[in-house]
Amino acid sequence: MTYVTTSENGDELMNEPSTSLRGKCGCGTWIEHWKKYAEKTTVPTCIVAGCNEQATDGAHVEFTQQTKFKGLTYIAPMCGDHNKDHDLVFTSKPGYRLARGSQAETCAKKAK
Ligand SMILES: [Zn+2]
Ligand SMILES: [Zn+2]
Repeated sequence: MTYVTTSENGDELMNEPSTSLRGKCGCGTWIEHWKKYAEKTTVPTCIVAGCNEQATDGAHVEFTQQTKFKGLTYIAPMCGDHNKDHDLVFTSKPGYRLARGSQAETCAKKAK
């Protein structure tokens, strides 16, 4: 279910707009959702290449390039400043795990 960003150059991703309208999932916060489905116990620095801030948010991102993942929403660890920047197109750091954002395929199976 997870996607790992390519190890050489990263991937070009976009921070999706208006994700605050989507509410919360059964995990409580989206960064908790990311930890659970990326199978990590600690949160890394922001996924945006060149940013050394600690990630605090689980951002909804999607691929900008035409790949088989296009159109799917993923959750990525991101700092608060970058997460405020909706429509931001950025290059990811390499080797980061992205968790699926679709609750139907993750936590909504168990959520109340
Ligand atoms: Zn969740
Ligand atoms: Zn950042």
